[in-house]
Amino acid sequence: MSLSNGRPYLAIPGPSVMPEAVLRAMHRAAPNIYEGELIDMTAGLVPDLARVARTDGHVAIYISNGHGAWEAALANVLSAGDRALVAATGRFAHGWSEMAQALGITTQVLDFGKHSPVDPERLESALRADKAHEIKAVMVTHVDTSTSIRNDIAATRAAMDAALHPALLMVDCIASLACDRFEMDAWGVDVMVAASQKGLMVPPGLGFVFFNDKAVSVRATKTYVSRYWDWVPRANPGYFYQYFGGTAPTHHLYGLRVALDMIHEEGIQAVWARHDHLARAIWAACEVWGQDGPLALNVTDPAHRSRAVTSLRIGAPHGSELRKWVEEKAGVTLGIGLGMAEPEDPEWHGFFRIGHMGHLNAHMVLGMLGAIEAGLTALDIAHGPGGLQAASRVISTA
Ligand SMILES: *Cc1c(COP(=O)(O)O)cnc(C)c1O
Repeated sequence: MSLSNGRPYLAIPGPSVMPEAVLRAMHRAAPNIYEGELIDMTAGLVPDLARVARTDGHVAIYISNGHGAWEAALANVLSAGDRALVAATGRFAHGWSEMAQALGITTQVLDFGKHSPVDPERLESALRADKAHEIKAVMVTHVDTSTSIRNDIAATRAAMDAALHPALLMVDCIASLACDRFEMDAWGVDVMVAASQKGLMVPPGLGFVFFNDKAVSVRATKTYVSRYWDWVPRANPGYFYQYFGGTAPTHHLYGLRVALDMIHEEGIQAVWARHDHLARAIWAACEVWGQDGPLALNVTDPAHRSRAVTSLRIGAPHGSELRKWVEEKAGVTLGIGLGMAEPEDPEWHGFFRIGHMGHLNAHMVLGMLGAIEAGLTALDIAHGPGGLQAASRVISTA
């Protein structure tokens, strides 16, 4: 029988669970887009977004998903014929690199594989080798959502500084913003991209590009920039429509207002600490299950793991079977493996991911882990005993 009737739980790495308060704020009649409340509210979103990103810099808002934010960031600081260095630790870095190539940018990919973070020394020597400073940007994912590797962005900046290289540091925080600690200004990030549907708890549909004055000066040297992606009018609008290059994403903005209020009320440090504690509970369960059987965390060293998403391997076909079981029997949807095997490969069914970003708390994590443990038992997949108990012990130390 199925025990899934009740509130479903989407535990995939984005879109994430949307708070009722966000949904309620969006459930309203179409507002006036020429004057009144919406106009005043939008101006207030900008400083509150910057606060989440820990920057005194600028922000441009796009009606787009994360891919749109990727393209927007590239379009403002790079041109066809420019070179960029991509430090890759998973599928998303390669995706951003491919998008740059489609814009005529030549990318040099330093691939660190699927299990370890960016090695700052390798990055430094690649930059030192670029004596003519042809590389205009270093592109890196803070958290790569396919592998769940979390890169050390301060160390990335230190490697660039050690090489005395003037390239811009561009960081993808789509998975990590408001989940994993991120300090845009303190870590020397020039351009950062994010989207609404992960740590920010709003439906997919808003992309964000944050940028500092160094990026502003690079943008100023460009003759042609796609009118739609140009961040200049969006970050300095003379008229309200310029924030969005057209009609405002009215309802998303109301949802975002509430989500930012929730984040600031909890406090960004507390938001990071909650994600950290809940992530450690998830890892504790997975480590115990993995003591006897095929389940294993993709990233061995906790220091390099994301607090927003966890990638696991369990051997084919157990990954797909487990996802199916917990969804059909328990109402929990887990994430598919991404970038670990090609979809046509039978091995593809040997991976899954847990999303733990945004609006989640201890009882959701314990319920999700309990559903996984029941699924492992029901499907007769070997696993060490006591995973849920180990998670509960971590939660008990809150
Ligand atoms: C989700 C995600 C993306 C892509 O975002 P879309 O909204 O699906 O376009 C890019 N990078 C990272 C790190 C992500 O987690």
